[in-house]
Amino acid sequence: MSINITTDTFKHQGMRKQLVKEVRAKGITDERVLAAMERVPRHLFLDPAFLAQAYSDYAFRIGAGQTISQPYTVAYQSSLLDIKKGDKVLEIGTGSGYQCSILLEMGAKVYSIERQKELHDKAKELLPALGYNPKLFYGDGYKGLPAFAPFDKIIVTAAAPYIPEDLKKQLKTGGILVIPVGAGNVQVMTTIFKTGDTTFETHELKDFRFVPMLTNKEWGEEKMAQKFRK
Ligand code: SAH
Repeated sequence: MSINITTDTFKHQGMRKQLVKEVRAKGITDERVLAAMERVPRHLFLDPAFLAQAYSDYAFRIGAGQTISQPYTVAYQSSLLDIKKGDKVLEIGTGSGYQCSILLEMGAKVYSIERQKELHDKAKELLPALGYNPKLFYGDGYKGLPAFAPFDKIIVTAAAPYIPEDLKKQLKTGGILVIPVGAGNVQVMTTIFKTGDTTFETHELKDFRFVPMLTNKEWGEEKMAQKFRK
């Protein structure tokens, strides 16, 4: 597989400035997030045919039934993480790698897990080609990465039916977990601050819509269903 890296021109940069303006107007005030968004070439995470979509504030299909999150959502979650330079961050749901690149631009060290091999492989090729070097894992986000824990921050970018205990465990004391929680069509963005070894403070914020965070079993069933639909 080879990825055609097209260039990042003044035109793209101009489109990005516009997008940042739009995201700012929707209430994002964290300048570090907005500066990162102005730098990451979102059009290179989508097929070249979708240039206009790349710089509109919408989620977009990236194949394997998954989506690249809406820029506003990426900015919102990134703001909640309150990234400091050098933070060790765990991301669940690499997807296109766009959210991951925003965190890297902000100076975080990122560990990201993806459940779908096809997307994991694609991100593994694309991100280094763009100059981003996260640690990418093909595996089950519900389990986190115990071998690399603890993390300063954890971000879940798929709809979690509940808050996985393993992720809470893998957070440093003083750390923040940002996770959209809800098994139905709508999820509540939730922040969990780890205040002590076993103590947490939870805040429920706004509603969002994410693709589901699948368990191994559900993923097997989904693949089977796809096979029969073909
Ligand atoms: N952060 C991504 C958004 C991806 S959408 C981006 O910026 O593009 C959510 C992703 O979570 C999908 O790619 C989906 O395959 C993945 N996912 C779903 N369940 C998962 C699980 N249990 N573990 C890891 N990734 C999972």
